[in-house]
Amino acid sequence: EATEETFSFQTEVAQLLHLMAHSLYSNKEIFLRELISNASDAIDRLRFERFSRPELADDEPLRIHVAFDPEARTITISDNGIGMSRQEVIANIGTIAKSGTTEFLKSLSGDQRKDAALIGQFGVGFYSAFVVADKVVLTTRRAGAAAGDAVRWSSEGKGEYTLEAVELEQRGTSIVLHLREGEEELLNSYRLRSIIQRYSDHISLPIVMAPEEEGGEETTVNRASALWTRSKSELTEQDYHDYYRHIGHDFTDPLAYLHAKVEGRYEYTLLLFIPSRAPYDLWAQQSRHGVKLHVQRVFILEDTGQLLPAYLRFVRGVIDSSDLPLNVSREILQSSRAVDHIRSSAVKKVLKLLRDMADNEPEKYATFWKQFGAVLKEGVADDYSNREEIAELLRFSSTHSATQEPDVSLNAYVERMKEGQEKIYYLLAPTLSAASSSPHLEAFRKKGIEVLLLGEAVDNWVVTGLLQEFKGKALQSVAQGVPDFGDLEDEAEKQETEKAAADLAPLLTRLKESLDGKAYDVRVTNRLTTSPACIVANEADTDLNLAQRLRGSGLP
Ligand code: ADP
Ligand code: MG
Repeated sequence: EATEETFSFQTEVAQLLHLMAHSLYSNKEIFLRELISNASDAIDRLRFERFSRPELADDEPLRIHVAFDPEARTITISDNGIGMSRQEVIANIGTIAKSGTTEFLKSLSGDQRKDAALIGQFGVGFYSAFVVADKVVLTTRRAGAAAGDAVRWSSEGKGEYTLEAVELEQRGTSIVLHLREGEEELLNSYRLRSIIQRYSDHISLPIVMAPEEEGGEETTVNRASALWTRSKSELTEQDYHDYYRHIGHDFTDPLAYLHAKVEGRYEYTLLLFIPSRAPYDLWAQQSRHGVKLHVQRVFILEDTGQLLPAYLRFVRGVIDSSDLPLNVSREILQSSRAVDHIRSSAVKKVLKLLRDMADNEPEKYATFWKQFGAVLKEGVADDYSNREEIAELLRFSSTHSATQEPDVSLNAYVERMKEGQEKIYYLLAPTLSAASSSPHLEAFRKKGIEVLLLGEAVDNWVVTGLLQEFKGKALQSVAQGVPDFGDLEDEAEKQETEKAAADLAPLLTRLKESLDGKAYDVRVTNRLTTSPACIVANEADTDLNLAQRLRGSGLP
């Protein structure tokens, strides 16, 4: 005798469900995309688990099934993937809110279209079933578990769900949606097919629908082939964009993409996208990398830094290798020559893609820089072998620009350098506005010498990472040491400073005495034009702003 047990959702989940039911209606079709995407993930995971557990293999073709029943007013989505144990059901779609749930609730804009598109991004796709259903019944059996160990989860999307032990002949998951009043239009084969084609064409497994008439045949609704295996010439920009929206869980088009089939010593395909918006977890400790590794078209794992370095973690896409073993693990990846090769080639290609964008589509590049510039900057310090290429991609605010927009490249700076100017001047400050109003800039402004204004925490690494030089030009902080204007200083100025130093000698002596042990030196300077005094770091020491930052970060 089966017994039903009732559980409560955590507050956030209950809130989320309420929202699904009441506020995301204008983009309701996405429920099907999300449930099909979960079915596809479940089959990917089954395929992966079979490498280590061959006993899970059988001849049954892997597929996703979609059916509807006008009388019962239900839509059913089922898969023969990995399934879930009772514990997994509770953990994945049960009581506890996932980190994405709260993030999702926080980032809602009130624009139903946008908000609905966020669902996949925050890992709360399953609950979108409640956009169209007022009751959802999920029945599942974990691969490898006994028929009697299946479980049925059922909820009306209010505060509770029930669990019940059931028997299930086959492994996998099926989800029955009991449609809300007024959703009858979804009980229509043409309508469902067109939703599937629109949102799920790129799923590389067959999505099958039952025959329309009795005695008819099942039909595969989607194209069911991996996009990246097709030749570039038969794909349109729209195909790529649609695919990106699918794998990037994004509703905006990517800024750029590259699709390359590489043959030779190693064979692999790259399909990589630069998004136009940063994901919510770009700065999280464990932020998701967006590249999925496939081996001969079988999904293996999501990159956690083996395939692309952290400073390119915004890239989304697929890498498909023919050289790796199907049972490859993260440990193997770390020491694989093929992976080394793929990684360095992928990095070079992405940097080239960005370079082309910067050269040919500066407006797009400005968007890219706003969203991801701070991440890319990490590369200057992290990736020694590509330092020069990355340095050329950097953009800074500068005393030369009318706005505070970071739109000055080091190349542009070098081209504009004054005759006799040998160094690239910069100012590090806690914020951009602090930088642009700093007294350290006075003399440079007066002489018309451009200074780069660095106001982001990561800029410290840029300065140290460039090893103090770009294309043979040293980088020089304007807040450090005696300002060295090189040949830009004229004789008259020099004399003026010397005269002032002589006149002010008694004052300097008194100041030095009273600041004994606190200041290294007190000097007359030509660095200021309107401010009476400023504090600078000693030549031999670290830049003051950098020193403060390093102290703050706990580094020595
Ligand atoms: P996400 O897919 O981003 O993890 P979802 O809310 O769509 O978020 O799904 C939550 C979790 O529920 C999945 O990660 C998975 O563990 C589980 N799940 C959902 N649907 C299925 C399914 N068809 N088969 C197996 N597990 C599933
Ligand atoms: Mg999902």
